[in-house]
Amino acid sequence: MIDDDEACRFCGRFVLEVDGWAESMRPYHQMRASWDENASFFWGSFHLGCIRNFPERETFRREAATWVSTVEDVVLLRGGDGETHEVPRRGLGFTDLVARLPSGELYENPRFNEWAYVEESGPFHFIDMHRAEALGRGERVRGSAGGRSILLSKDPQVDVSTWDLVELLDFLDVRDLYQEMLDTLEPKYRYVDSGRNRFGLVLDYSLSCIQAYPSDLARFFGEYLSGYVPKRLEDA
Ligand SMILES: [Zn+2]
Repeated sequence: MIDDDEACRFCGRFVLEVDGWAESMRPYHQMRASWDENASFFWGSFHLGCIRNFPERETFRREAATWVSTVEDVVLLRGGDGETHEVPRRGLGFTDLVARLPSGELYENPRFNEWAYVEESGPFHFIDMHRAEALGRGERVRGSAGGRSILLSKDPQVDVSTWDLVELLDFLDVRDLYQEMLDTLEPKYRYVDSGRNRFGLVLDYSLSCIQAYPSDLARFFGEYLSGYVPKRLEDA
């Protein structure tokens, strides 16, 4: 059985988090889930590929773009009483639309050197100055390798410290969802630690891969940053 926290909101299968390929949204974020009549806001784990294949990805994309580009607004939610209520909502405040590309839209934060990129097919990404500059130079950019902790879906009864990434993905029965990452995005996996709690075996690992940003986004940064004046923290 897959713990709810690690089940993809779209396909229900295990999400092994890796920046740019499989991620999660914290419960306190307020992106509207207008495609889902059982939820007001979207949160939880997901494979980015599952958003791209989601029949309502256009609605997802629209809600993502609104959420990242809004400072504050009011959304209409149906309450437990069946009535519709006006609820204040906070967005991420990337208010400046600086590029509308074939592959997606790029929003800039008016206070910081940060961008939110919403793919035409739904998934969104956050890009700091370091990544933007590397992209602009035509480099491949590796995602962050932050340590992560997962509860394995069943007890492997073996020494998981010796597993490589393919063995882990096979155990979780999701290798097909990561095959393209394995083949093209040079994942770096490292076992960190493991231990039992009352629910099962918890594995700590770090994992990163090259970010599959589209070429028109890289080209845009190359041109845009040549005339860009970085915002200074003291002005923010
Ligand atoms: Zn999925």
